[in-house]
Amino acid sequence: MNHEPVIGLEIHAQLLTKSKIFCSCSTEFGAPPNTHTCPVCLGMPGVLPVLNRTVVDYALRMALATNCAVAPLSRFARKNYFYPDLPKGYQISQYELPIAEHGHILIEVNGETKRIGITRIHMEEDAGKLIHDPYRPVSSVDFNRTGVPLIEIVSEPDIRTPEEAGAYLRQLRAILRYLEICDGNMEEGSFRCDANISVRPVGVDTLGTRTELKNMNSFKHVENALACEIERQGSLIEDGKKVVQETRLWDPAKGITVSMRSKEEAHDYRYFPDPDLLPLVIDEQWVEEIQRSLPELPAAKKSRFITDYELPSYDAELLTASRALADYFEACVNHFPEPKTVSNWVMGSLLAALNAENKTIEQTPVTPERLAELLRLIDSGVISGKIAKTVFDEMVSSGNAPETIVREKGLVQITDTDAIAEIIQKVLADYPKEVSDYKGGKTKLLGFFVGQVMKATRGKANPKLVNEILKEML
Ligand code: ADP
Ligand code: MG
Ligand code: ZN
Repeated sequence: MNHEPVIGLEIHAQLLTKSKIFCSCSTEFGAPPNTHTCPVCLGMPGVLPVLNRTVVDYALRMALATNCAVAPLSRFARKNYFYPDLPKGYQISQYELPIAEHGHILIEVNGETKRIGITRIHMEEDAGKLIHDPYRPVSSVDFNRTGVPLIEIVSEPDIRTPEEAGAYLRQLRAILRYLEICDGNMEEGSFRCDANISVRPVGVDTLGTRTELKNMNSFKHVENALACEIERQGSLIEDGKKVVQETRLWDPAKGITVSMRSKEEAHDYRYFPDPDLLPLVIDEQWVEEIQRSLPELPAAKKSRFITDYELPSYDAELLTASRALADYFEACVNHFPEPKTVSNWVMGSLLAALNAENKTIEQTPVTPERLAELLRLIDSGVISGKIAKTVFDEMVSSGNAPETIVREKGLVQITDTDAIAEIIQKVLADYPKEVSDYKGGKTKLLGFFVGQVMKATRGKANPKLVNEILKEML
């Protein structure tokens, strides 16, 4: 293909405030329909919105974490359109004067770091939810979500491939979660993505006509929908046809995008400043206060893990994917200061065990202290590395301490040379043919003998000693 894709993403992140953006209704998810509503979020005539200060705090956190410039004065605007899930007939959003602009984040794809620009971040209110009756031609509306705070994060068209789009989304979600301002759940809709995409001949600087893709509720959907749309637009252009500017819906079942509606333009919305809300003034002190409260962010933590713990970039990336996982790793290293060994166990056995039981790191049955105890048992030669896997599985299923398991199951490693020699003696006596083959030059048989000794000891013999003594006796 001599065309290159150009991609820009719009992310809506639901903020984890207790109450809504302009009233005191609860934002709690899953309550019975229309129980978290009041005259303000139902859009009754004459009511007045009052801005929730925590929403501004959270938007500021994200703005600073993504290197944006904070606007000393920003404004709320009315975005007018009619839809049954929007009781006021307009959505309160920010338009000409958003709270933050001109930011960027760094993403890593195939070992290369790339900068993706953030055009703007603004605050707005969520709409309600339509529930379509599957049996009757009727839809109901639930206004519990109406007025739940959102931030919209708009990227520059700096993304070039579906993989970059995936990396950008993962990085943004990690930042939101580190900041503890959004739970980042794409399936439940607390983290949503619209993808804008066009293609253009390689070497050309101007942008082609874009389509906007919606209805993707997982990272895989976003990547697949983009790949599919790159194909579609590419072949249209190769056939001498034109891309139509429109909104398209991803159909995950069919694996295609379908036209939904012609793309609306900003002027269709008749934006105007909301006369019910004062301009939002943010002074330097407020910004500094938020700056000071920011935690260490994923990128900084990752580079610290690489320098301080001498971990490979791959390990550092994986271990810092969530704050809780990074904390687990550091707690474990505190008790057993061999970072690469800890990393191998966390990324390997621990994550596999959590995956198998569909648990998060917060629900781990093995505390960092217990994992460190296990690693010390290996380190001091009490158990072999192989037996340690068995002990670990037992720690996961029973929740018991490694020492208890080793003691109760008699898993202590055999390091007594006389005892090992005795077992080897028996094995050699059982396999006279193999012994003479070995002596005749088939030294590869050593592995066979080691295997037999380990089998006889149910894996408990110290492998290093077994090797040494075997060679000597043979
Ligand atoms: P709208 O709300 O109309 O979709 P925005 O300007 O808020 O418009 O967002 C547009 C998004 O689309 C941004 O992420 C921007 O980078 C991206 N974008 C704009 N033009 C193009 C284009 N020609 N090709 C690809 N992406 C584009
Ligand atoms: Mg859009
Ligand atoms: Zn309300």
